[in-house]
Amino acid sequence: MARIVCKFGGSSVADHTQFLKIKKILQGNSKRTVVVPSAPGKRHGGEAKLTDLLYLCHDMAQKKLSLDGPFTLIRDRYLDIETQLNLNAGMAATLDTFRIEIENGATRDFVASRGEYLCGVLMAAFLGAEFVDPKDTVFFDKTGRIDPKTYDVLGARMADETKLYVMPGFYGVDVKGQIKTFSRGGSDISGAIAARAVKCEVYENWTDVSGLLMADPRIVENPHPLDEVSYREIRELSYMGASVFHDEAIAPVREVGIPINIRNTNRPEDPGTRIVAHLPEVTKYDIAGVAGKKNFSMFSLEKNMMNKEVGFARKVLGVFEGRGVSIEHCPSSIDSISVVVSSEEIGDKTEAILEDIRRILEPDTLDVQHDISLLAVVGEGMTHQIGIAAKVFTALRDAEVNVRIIDQGASELNIIIGVDNKDYAKAIRALYSVMMTPNPAYRPA
Ligand code: ASP
Repeated sequence: MARIVCKFGGSSVADHTQFLKIKKILQGNSKRTVVVPSAPGKRHGGEAKLTDLLYLCHDMAQKKLSLDGPFTLIRDRYLDIETQLNLNAGMAATLDTFRIEIENGATRDFVASRGEYLCGVLMAAFLGAEFVDPKDTVFFDKTGRIDPKTYDVLGARMADETKLYVMPGFYGVDVKGQIKTFSRGGSDISGAIAARAVKCEVYENWTDVSGLLMADPRIVENPHPLDEVSYREIRELSYMGASVFHDEAIAPVREVGIPINIRNTNRPEDPGTRIVAHLPEVTKYDIAGVAGKKNFSMFSLEKNMMNKEVGFARKVLGVFEGRGVSIEHCPSSIDSISVVVSSEEIGDKTEAILEDIRRILEPDTLDVQHDISLLAVVGEGMTHQIGIAAKVFTALRDAEVNVRIIDQGASELNIIIGVDNKDYAKAIRALYSVMMTPNPAYRPA
């Protein structure tokens, strides 16, 4: 029997009523036998995520301050779930020991990992499932990447297809056996690792929205949900700011072709978004979506006969490398080249970079402009379609948006457009509305 791995995000495990929903979801499909919970998230807008409170406790302990405030909030959340669900998971004693561990200088990663660990203990008790501790099954290598032996060890640990397993997300162990966490939102990665380890049929990622949307709902009113999107498209969209799913969580399942299904714990009847390896030949829309990010800086230099100077581009890029700044895009013309970088990354290095460029490349002109936004129109369907670029730029012209940068990758998976920050929202709305006419050749499966 093929299994389904279900990862539940912070809002899906925020209180005991969410735990009850999870039980129902699992009962809805007997293949759902591996559960990967996050740490409890916010129950309402004003509340803190448990992970944030845990980091706070760690920082306060380092400063020898009393943990009373944040630790009481943490303690109450776990004890509340335990009491409301009539569980006997020994939470009070575990939490008392944990507090002493924090006060005695437990590492930051260890403290943060307990958010998931304690949630997993409660979840396993509630579901009558076997608890699998990532400290024995999820291994980071020397470089901080996942050691492939994880898949074998974890697969063997969860080999019995008739059993229900709960493995907390967000952490594993480093080469020294110390607890190490992923980056924030990393339980998605743990879920993907579990999915691959048990070779599941689908990796379900349960959250509080019914899948991905084709544009940011804070900018576009009621954007369409995305029914199906490819791994490649989702990488581009999430890199360009569409969030819901951790972008590093794609790789473990992508490499072995396991589809991901983003689902809503509060509306389990909704089909959500499927992330798959291959899309059908004709998709409903020409594009998967529009995403973007604000606040980039563009360094532009001109030098006559630049194209004849061997190694010119390498030297330009070398300046940024030398200052430890990664590059987003690099549009060029015969005698000019621009380098687009995130303004946050540049920080206070602008003057130093300009100085390096002047000294090393002796350009005829050199300037830097800040407050630039990058937008990406993403879609595998664009490869076969004539006229997508025409639609994109007509839409921007009609919205009176001045285009500063145009860049289309060789994959033809996206068109990147740079505009002034002030035009960002207007441009996203214009692109979304013009690209959302369904493809007349599309027939739903
Ligand atoms: N609890 C961790 C965080 O808040 C990991 C996760 O939720 O995925 O980042």
